[in-house]
Amino acid sequence: MATDEQDGERHGFETKAIHAGSPPDPATGAVVPPLNLSTTFAQHGVGQHQGWEYARSGNPTRAALETAVATLEGAAHGFAFASGLAAEDAVLRLLGWGEGVALGDDAYGGTYRLIDKVHGPAGHPWVALDLTTDADRLDADWPPDIRLVWLETPTNPALRIVDIEAVADVAHHHSALVVVDNTFATPYLTQPLSLGADVVVHSSTKYLGGHSDVVGGFVALNDDELADRIGFLQNAVGAVPSPFDCYLVHRGVKTLAVRLDRQCANARAVAELLRSHPAVDTVLWPGLDEHPGHDIAKRQMRDFGAMVSFTLRGGEAAAVAVCEATELFTLAESLGAVESLIEHPARMTHASAAGSQLEVDPALVRLSVGIESADDLLADLAKALSRVG
Ligand SMILES: *Cc1c(COP(=O)(O)O)cnc(C)c1O
Repeated sequence: MATDEQDGERHGFETKAIHAGSPPDPATGAVVPPLNLSTTFAQHGVGQHQGWEYARSGNPTRAALETAVATLEGAAHGFAFASGLAAEDAVLRLLGWGEGVALGDDAYGGTYRLIDKVHGPAGHPWVALDLTTDADRLDADWPPDIRLVWLETPTNPALRIVDIEAVADVAHHHSALVVVDNTFATPYLTQPLSLGADVVVHSSTKYLGGHSDVVGGFVALNDDELADRIGFLQNAVGAVPSPFDCYLVHRGVKTLAVRLDRQCANARAVAELLRSHPAVDTVLWPGLDEHPGHDIAKRQMRDFGAMVSFTLRGGEAAAVAVCEATELFTLAESLGAVESLIEHPARMTHASAAGSQLEVDPALVRLSVGIESADDLLADLAKALSRVG
């Protein structure tokens, strides 16, 4: 779905989040675009229709979401998928036979699994790269046959910061596409296409949906030819979200900015508590001055995000004990919603990366900080940490 770029340029982020893709319904005046469940659309002559034929190919509820998120990413084109991994799969299918992938060496475990276990055997060699390496080194050591660079920033779960502009320069020098998984930052904090990325992907399940009640994915990009191919794959492979899923993600997107403002502020309070706690070894949050990516984060992010990871002096046993001791921070996978979550990546979200270059430190705990009262979150964490410190 192509966006109305003029509309996209004129307004501030929060305004676009409310209005892009959401004009009042022309038939009824309904302020919220109606949830359109129809799988098929009447034609007034053979091949003559009002822009809609069959709901896998396109439907008004999905189109509204696609316009909204593409506009927020500053993208000319947006495509909604049934999950983040379905969106990733569509992007990886852009590669030709034998063309390789460079994956940042800290990444979501499911992305690693998709690249290593599905697209690898299907003819796409891949390497793990430390994309925080300085650009000259990266350029000099560039592996052969890499046509696509897959980067996260902040990374999952170590929250390292990758300089999108610098990596895009090097990758383009080697004729590789740059894909940014913008799930952690969201377009509110970072707009990768404006920094030189070619494609943005999302797990809409996380911050875009924002309420832990819908699974979805998204691809946003500017290049018309690539967009045609992603649109073709969306329809031909068919990993599309239901209209209700689209409706829920779109509803979530409207409050993205206000949720993230609160979440980032709460994350700062949490990071500062952790930094001063004797049971904690290292706090990984890009908002801290001592974080190695702090200066780049200041440049390419509006705020520092609401994911906070930390390692425990007591190692794996202490990490597991803390995860099991909090009450407000619910022990669960996933992230990005209004409620705070805690998890142990090595045994949970990143278990599939065990034994690989992307293996996660077992002393590491990952928090997704929600919008609860900061004082309550701090008290909950302090109580859990007191068990191990
Ligand atoms: C969850 C997640 C994904 C996968 O998305 P699904 O919606 O679960 O398929 C991809 N990337 C990141 C960074 C994630 O956190």
